[in-house]
Amino acid sequence: MTSASPVLNDQFGRRISYVRLSLTDRCDMRCRYCMAETMEFLPRSEILSHEEIGTLARAFVARGVTRIRLTGGEPLARRGAVDVARDIGRLLGKGLDELTLTTNASRLRDHAQGLREAGVERINISLDTRDPEKFSHITRLGNLARVLDGIAAAKDVGFRIKINMVALKGLNDQEILPMLEWCAEQGFDLSLIETMPLGMIDEDRTDRFLPLTQVQDELSARYSLIPSAHRTGGPARYWQVQELGNRIGLISPLTANFCEGCNRIRVSASGQLYMCLGHEDNVDLRAALRSGDPAAVDAAVDLAMGRKPRRHTFDLTTPATARHMSVTGG
Ligand code: SAM
Ligand code: SF4
Repeated sequence: MTSASPVLNDQFGRRISYVRLSLTDRCDMRCRYCMAETMEFLPRSEILSHEEIGTLARAFVARGVTRIRLTGGEPLARRGAVDVARDIGRLLGKGLDELTLTTNASRLRDHAQGLREAGVERINISLDTRDPEKFSHITRLGNLARVLDGIAAAKDVGFRIKINMVALKGLNDQEILPMLEWCAEQGFDLSLIETMPLGMIDEDRTDRFLPLTQVQDELSARYSLIPSAHRTGGPARYWQVQELGNRIGLISPLTANFCEGCNRIRVSASGQLYMCLGHEDNVDLRAALRSGDPAAVDAAVDLAMGRKPRRHTFDLTTPATARHMSVTGG
């Protein structure tokens, strides 16, 4: 049964217009705050096919979703990721306003042009440090030169780029200011992210937790931060850095909670619809897709709208969920 209203409103009246679709839970890196060194990934048979992902995207856009972000795991680690982007890109201008991607950039040199042609204009790239040794330490498997080359390729094809940097006490805190300045030189915005307690990792997250309230004070001592009206409906707040001309976003779900304005839901690579990053509850869209009932996906999404929780209750000392950020899609 399709609901009377095509638009998605959750039980608290929040309009859901933004969906993050995970293409894979796999990754070619093992960032310490994200994953344990040894991870079990989903068998390929459990993940949605390209066609199923396209069907879901069309179903969401028909229900008023205007922004889709492809993520993971590392979305570009999935073979055919650009084909998926091209398929979803056909919805641009037909209900979909924006198709974006979050990537670690390790494979971006090969795919930047294809993604641009698919209609992606803006991407988020994760880069926690520009120091090669620290990069190897944080990502365990990553190669900084390759990532910087991917970033250069993305810049060349004309993406608008935002760098995502997880703030890690004692690891990259001294690099925040230089990173902001480098981003300004490159024409990029920067978002700083507080570590979130999602999934078991090999370390104690509290050791590396850096409250962004403290970082904001330090940045304000050096630069004039003008509050920006830019909002994404997520936990990020943005400031224009007057002297540098770029924008800095602070994603601080721990020190500031903005769940009341939440506009998003996330679909894992195996088709579980998660209504909140910080809760286990989910609705099985893969079962709906494979049921043979054309109305089943809409019905499952409606069910999810009635169950989206009011807010997360992150506590850094205990993982809020057993699943890692790489499963839900960051
Ligand atoms: N692999 C891609 C990447 O790294 O950009 C996309 C997926 S990754 C899960 C998305 C974002 O989540 C990245 O910016 C990453 O730094 C961030 N992230 C992963 N685990 C996190 C955690 N526990 N707390 C905060 N941010 C996290
Ligand atoms: Fe991979 Fe992204 Fe997680 Fe790093 S943050 S391990 S790149 S999914």
